[in-house]
Amino acid sequence: MTLFIRTIFAIVVLAVIGGTIAVFWNIENRLPPISYNEFLEILEKDEVADVHLRGSEVSLTDSYGREFITYSPDVPALVPRLLEKGVIVNGSSENPSPLWDLAGIAVPVFLILVVWYSMLRRGGEDESESQFAKDKITRFTPQNRQVTFRDVAGVSEVKEELLEVIDFLQRPKKYSSLGAVIPRGILFQGPPGTGKTLLARAIAGESGVPFFGISGSDFVEMFVGVGASRVRELFKEAKKNSPCIVFIDEIDAVGGHRSAGSAAGGQDERGQTLNALLVEMDGFSRDETIIILAATNRPDILDPALLRPGRFDRQISILPPDVKGRFKILQVYAQKMELAENVELEKIARSTPGFTGAELASLMNEAALIAGRKGDSSVRLEHFEMAKDRILMGVERKGLVISDKDRKTMAYHEAGHAILAKFLPETDPIHKITIIPRGKALGHTQQLPLADRHAYPKEYLLSRIKILMGGRLAEEICLNQQTTGAEDDFRQAVELASKMVCKWGMSENIGPMSYLRDDGSFLGEQLSNTAHSEKTNQEIDEEVKKLIETCYREAGELLTKEKDFLIYLANMLLVNETLDLEEMDIVYECTTKKRRDGIDPSAEDDGMACFFTPTE
Ligand code: ADP
Ligand code: ZN
Repeated sequence: MTLFIRTIFAIVVLAVIGGTIAVFWNIENRLPPISYNEFLEILEKDEVADVHLRGSEVSLTDSYGREFITYSPDVPALVPRLLEKGVIVNGSSENPSPLWDLAGIAVPVFLILVVWYSMLRRGGEDESESQFAKDKITRFTPQNRQVTFRDVAGVSEVKEELLEVIDFLQRPKKYSSLGAVIPRGILFQGPPGTGKTLLARAIAGESGVPFFGISGSDFVEMFVGVGASRVRELFKEAKKNSPCIVFIDEIDAVGGHRSAGSAAGGQDERGQTLNALLVEMDGFSRDETIIILAATNRPDILDPALLRPGRFDRQISILPPDVKGRFKILQVYAQKMELAENVELEKIARSTPGFTGAELASLMNEAALIAGRKGDSSVRLEHFEMAKDRILMGVERKGLVISDKDRKTMAYHEAGHAILAKFLPETDPIHKITIIPRGKALGHTQQLPLADRHAYPKEYLLSRIKILMGGRLAEEICLNQQTTGAEDDFRQAVELASKMVCKWGMSENIGPMSYLRDDGSFLGEQLSNTAHSEKTNQEIDEEVKKLIETCYREAGELLTKEKDFLIYLANMLLVNETLDLEEMDIVYECTTKKRRDGIDPSAEDDGMACFFTPTE
């Protein structure tokens, strides 16, 4: 679009300059005009020395050397009289001058050339064009004020993962001499405002290398070829400045699945841009120390080509911070502020579930603004309350904020899964329990780690089904409710149970049988329209149902037995939002201790007492 405007602008400027020149040229050369009668008079008086005819225009020089111009209505009749009087007659064609002739042709041709050139060469490498592509690149050199890891809070795990990258940027020789292949591309995925850009800049800051950032949406322009040229330009810059960091925000704008495009015209452009990006990423030599970071909140729509080895083969997901993370982010911003005594950042952190880093930053800023407007010397708790209301009301929160009731449901649901995972035999260890909402796009974290090449024992599979039932069961046992939150759990459970019955020969009544269809797909929901007898189908259905019901009952018994622990854990989750295995164990220890001492661990008011203070 900008290019189009530039072209138009250039044309207008040229036209104005041309017009001005023409006007001046005319004025400069204008002779004093006289009427035709006057001319005839002078002619009669024999005072005309010579004339110059140009069309109907007659310029004359009289015998005193003065020059005039006039127009003759009848030049052919005039000429014989002039010759009669012995006047010297010159003539030229109608155009004012040969130079003018040339200009008349040259100017339009020149303009056409300019337009045509800029249209054609947009994808090219000429200087003005590359300057144009450069406009969109944000750059930070080590001389600019640097962002460091200290500015990014609440993402300690991610930071740890990135330490290796920083080391590589600082000492590439060490790695290349060992023959190590360092990840070229790292993809940050997570909702907007979670600090992805900030992290990318912090990596550059920590390693002391330049940072080149561009947004994916800047690649996609109206004209075909712009995006590809920008990609090339970006990488050209990067190679010149290696070691460095290239950051592509909103990569889904270019790297979206090729079939997921909206406008047909945009397809081609995006495809070209994506191809250029892939070519550039593959085209690095080993001694170019360039790390490409990209950010997206729609990893599900990315073209798989982008995720292949050697490209963005490392993915790091960044979720909105939990209460500890929020506390740390608030601390970062509080350093720069004058806070009143009554402000407890921990409380603010607790009252802002679902807030992203960006929202917390603006919360702090709003509060300071309000305090300033009121003429206060420090930012007080009331200011934070007002700022929070303003943020919650003003901005569209994109569904991130969840109601207290939903949080409670999630806490019990997740606690149910976790407790079963802790007590049942043959389970995968728990990594983390969290009630931080994640967008649908980020998918379900608890993915079925089932691949056919592993030999999973029946016991493991049964435990898995029971764990999947735990969410719904906890809601029923403690909250006496059924919600849609268990949808995915049930789907997975039924799939597993069906496989156990039809594929792995793990049910008593069906026995060691495999009911696979010809195409290799297994018999799940489609049982009814297969070639097996009605009776077999019915048996399979019954077996699957029996399996699930048994698991459901047994899991329910276990959870009922541990109900006080379940309530305690859910409350701890409500406060802390995320618990790791170690913290869950601490909650369990507390529970057993309370049981020994005859205290009810599920007494709700105790929930806050065990807030795990953030450490980093
Ligand atoms: P994203 O790229 O994920 O959309 P940004 O990195 O642009 O998010 O974050 C926007 C702003 O929000 C940052 O400039 C920073 O002020 C603030 N912010 C976000 N996350 C954090 C964090 N973890 N720690 C400190 N500030 C943060
Ligand atoms: Zn669940």
